[in-house]
Amino acid sequence: MAAPSKCFTIPLVFLLAQVAGFGCAHNPTPVAVDKPIVDLNPANLRIENLTNPLGLDEKSPRLSWLVESAQRGQKQTAYRILVGRTEEALQADRGDEWDSGKVDGGRISQIVYGGKPLRSHQYYWWKVQVWDKDDKPSAWSAAAMWSMGFLDPAEWKGQWIGYDKARQAVKSAGLILPPPALLRTDFVSDKPIRHATLYATALGLYDITLNGKRVGDDYFGPGWTDYTKRVYYRAYDVTPLIKRGGNAWCAVLADGWYCGYLGYNHIRDHYGKKSRLRAQIHVEYDDGTTGDFYTGPDWKASTGPYLEADFLMGEVYDPSRIPEGWDVSGFNMAKWGKVDLGAEVKPIVQHHPGPAVKALYEIKPVAITEPKPGAYVLDMGQNFAGVARLKVAGEAGQKIVLRFAERLNPDGTIYTANLRSARAADTYICKGGGVETWQPRFTYHGFQYVEVTGLKTKPADDTVTGIALTSETPPAGSFACSDSMLNQLYRNITWTQRANFIAIPTDCPQRDERLGWTGDAQVYVRTATLNADVEAFFTKWLVDLEDGQRQDGEFPMVAPVKVAENDGGPAWADAGVICPWTIYEVYGDKRLLERHYDSMVRFVEFCRKRSTPDLLPPKQYHCFGDWLSIRAETPKDVIYMAYFAKSTRLVAQAAEVLGKTEDAKKYNYLLAKIKAAFNRRYVNSKGEVEGKTQAGYVLAIAFDLLDDSMLKLAARHLVDDIEQRKDHLSTGFIGTKDLMLALSKIERTDVAFRLLHQETFPSWGFSIKQGATSIWERWDGWTPDHGFQDPGMNSFAHYSFGAVYQWIVENIGGIRMAAPGYDEIAINPQLDPHLHWAKTSYRSARGRIESSWKREEAKFTLDVTLPPGTTGSICLPASNAVDITEGGKPVAEAPGVILTRIEGDRAYLTVGSGTFHFRSSVAPPAR
Ligand code: BGC
Repeated sequence: MAAPSKCFTIPLVFLLAQVAGFGCAHNPTPVAVDKPIVDLNPANLRIENLTNPLGLDEKSPRLSWLVESAQRGQKQTAYRILVGRTEEALQADRGDEWDSGKVDGGRISQIVYGGKPLRSHQYYWWKVQVWDKDDKPSAWSAAAMWSMGFLDPAEWKGQWIGYDKARQAVKSAGLILPPPALLRTDFVSDKPIRHATLYATALGLYDITLNGKRVGDDYFGPGWTDYTKRVYYRAYDVTPLIKRGGNAWCAVLADGWYCGYLGYNHIRDHYGKKSRLRAQIHVEYDDGTTGDFYTGPDWKASTGPYLEADFLMGEVYDPSRIPEGWDVSGFNMAKWGKVDLGAEVKPIVQHHPGPAVKALYEIKPVAITEPKPGAYVLDMGQNFAGVARLKVAGEAGQKIVLRFAERLNPDGTIYTANLRSARAADTYICKGGGVETWQPRFTYHGFQYVEVTGLKTKPADDTVTGIALTSETPPAGSFACSDSMLNQLYRNITWTQRANFIAIPTDCPQRDERLGWTGDAQVYVRTATLNADVEAFFTKWLVDLEDGQRQDGEFPMVAPVKVAENDGGPAWADAGVICPWTIYEVYGDKRLLERHYDSMVRFVEFCRKRSTPDLLPPKQYHCFGDWLSIRAETPKDVIYMAYFAKSTRLVAQAAEVLGKTEDAKKYNYLLAKIKAAFNRRYVNSKGEVEGKTQAGYVLAIAFDLLDDSMLKLAARHLVDDIEQRKDHLSTGFIGTKDLMLALSKIERTDVAFRLLHQETFPSWGFSIKQGATSIWERWDGWTPDHGFQDPGMNSFAHYSFGAVYQWIVENIGGIRMAAPGYDEIAINPQLDPHLHWAKTSYRSARGRIESSWKREEAKFTLDVTLPPGTTGSICLPASNAVDITEGGKPVAEAPGVILTRIEGDRAYLTVGSGTFHFRSSVAPPAR
């Protein structure tokens, strides 16, 4: 038996996540694990795509795991799941809640819990055992756990509470920024506790403490939804925080997305005016009895150190106003006010299905300058989203102001024009008397530079520390190659994803916008999956998107719907079809597809209805076009038709997956008609797509709208246009998403590589030459000739152009999904004279995939790892079988490898799972 350790046995991929700052959220004591009996081990146990979640309200949750093995051809052939109510029961191999028995098959994900009916507030422990290819059983996995929350909403006893007096309009510099409320109560717990779970939700943002200790380590709970329809609760294990006797339960309640400033146009109070908290602690005592403590009329309210707290505007904090002892029991509340009860909206309250926002990294400044006397500028070396932690020893009343920016002016001061009306400033008023440390809780900024004023001396290295925040989406990918520019591009993409995956997929983290733009999300979702495990993150956002769907079937511009309109238009609204399909395809999540299927159909029917009888675009409709294209204008009608076809195709495919044969037929038929209409109206006999832009050709090629003869012509036109521009692109958000993929599809990967390596304007490389540490919203965000683009719209952290990472993984790494959920994998790295090696990994729904290749003179080596239970097809440069070895053996003798054919200078092989070391001695084709 292995000695119990503090945390679960964590697979390597999760160690990475740990290094990145993602810990186990709730760590049960591990169950001892026997030495492996076979080389196949279940790991990374998840339920509803989350690790050890608390408070689920899904009545039929699904269990998933990965299997790991170093052995070739390994696979799971059966599994057994045990679920117990206590760790002890599980340790004794008693599945008193569910023993699935041995179930034949290789399924490792989305297995519906099939035990005794689940009970509210109950904790469950589970583990899994698998059988290998020879029917030998593995050791049991480490234990995982989950708890149930409110299975019946009527069990909520907590009432909505707030403090409206605190909210009386307080104006500063034209802004209305009421201080957050402090809310508190005392309660007595008189018996030993087995489990105490705190459930919290808010119309606004909460920060909760029990006896002075912060509950949880997440930010911005309970997240952003359309609060008029739905709000989520989160659950926390507070067993160790509750004392025998008197307890102080306190909360700070801020405006957040509910009633703070949100989006553009200087508007606040989007969903309501009165922030509210609703919380309940459910206690299960050792003697088996239970009890609840909750928000209600007995709570008291006041204001305190938070003078202002707003996402866009920032925080003002005065620690001298902390009511002394307010967060411990026995505090005298005589001067505190009554709480206000009841809420303006009546949302349904459900368990949050996605990850929480967490602190990911701490970042130290790389340079400190003083461009103006007393205004220090700290370069954090990286554009990211989060906050700054301040450490100072100031005098009482000394005001220190932090302002944030992505770029600098030529004189070295911070450039803030592009933040538009986002004040993005935090103020700390020193208490005096020693070193003070402070970090805001209810705001975040997108920045690389921090300006600090109000200090008496130059800041030290630890005066300001950057805290990068992001939704907890465990890292799933990695990439490195011999070209340092591409490595920087990869870093910029991952950082921009983190900066914009904050509660929802936002467009940008810095200016007065930060909205869930649907077009951006659909363009980027596939790349997002290659960087991180975003299944739970999108599971949540897809509910926001469906909540925002109009009665007539149209999807909105942004989700949750607010600020922007509810008519997304072509390529934006299509997110409602493309995103659920992508999440299904990548993770094999059929239930998600099923749940969104009707809304996908409603959308395609909306598109059909608003089109002419010939299925052409109506006279008037809203469309953003190929947003931020450069020196090219793609006709909106072309985008309309291409996306109408794409969504129709995906609905037909979804119907097939879900066994809805009639629907599949119907939408395939519709697709054929849309394609015919597109060709008739927008493609001429020379294969020119109306508008003759790169984006037009890209959409026609990538979405399979052309027949073979037209495809060849269109391919030529696309390449000609790129070459006429001396290997430069002209595409915006929509065209760029598929530009590189389309070039590879027409077998012009050479042209794609030229675009990728391009360093002159416009290109990815150009921004990197200008020192970009993130993906810019516009190709010309800053140019030496014109300086900054229009500050009215010029973010330096927009992920859309980062969607090129899908192409990088599929073509440089050569890793492609050949069947949904990565059950089959193709490895086919494309060679390019400028690249000598590349190392790419991706932890798929099946497990870790790796491709690492190197070219030295006439030698080519390729190391591949495929996860258990998968099969792969590998393509190597080789024109003769005798040139290929695997693990030092001629390929014909290599175990688990079959050479299927050689075509010209490429050899095709089939392999099972495991790690393979190929070598071929043919020089890659000169390009
Ligand atoms: C956002 C975008 C969005 C666009 C709509 C912008 O303000 O930042 O990313 O897609 O509006 O065209």
